[in-house]
Amino acid sequence: MTTAPERLVNYVTMEFPAEPDNVAFARTAAAVFASRLDFTLDELDEIKVAVSEAVSNAVLHAYPGGGGVIRMELGVTGGGALKLTVIDDGVGIADVDAARRPQWTTRPDERMGLGFTFMQEYMDKLDVVSRPGAGTRVVMVKAPARAAVAGAR
Ligand code: ATP
Ligand code: MG
Repeated sequence: MTTAPERLVNYVTMEFPAEPDNVAFARTAAAVFASRLDFTLDELDEIKVAVSEAVSNAVLHAYPGGGGVIRMELGVTGGGALKLTVIDDGVGIADVDAARRPQWTTRPDERMGLGFTFMQEYMDKLDVVSRPGAGTRVVMVKAPARAAVAGAR
């Protein structure tokens, strides 16, 4: 039986192969979903960057042998924030705290090690849950800033 994710007033879930072409698809799908909330164009651009980084990581790092599936969950929380979850069941991350540090990468010849830094910078909240061999779950939450201002009045 399929049950809705908890505490979300609306959501879309999707699964796609961990292929580079699907990074652009995921970014656009997330932006279309987010556009129902009161985000500015700048905030939508930030969301697109964060989603690209999370999905790129699953494409680049999760499945060294190729293949693999990425699950992306797009949701609106009861408080009116956007919640984005990117899940893979790939190799996982041995030290999440280290991986989240700026310029930390396991591929120093090719990568900058800034993906998690952008996610942290552009979203209100970033949770990374990972275990070697068990995959990685990246959860990001962002509320429209002008909704917060309106709510404070
Ligand atoms: P950049 O994002 O700048 O291209 P990067 O991907 O190496 O470089 P981060 O996105 O910050 O940098 O990720 C840091 C490290 O965390 C990666 O080098 C990789 O070792 C690990 N990592 C991140 N996401 C995953 C994932 N989904 N599965 C396995 N390892 C991951
Ligand atoms: Mg990255």
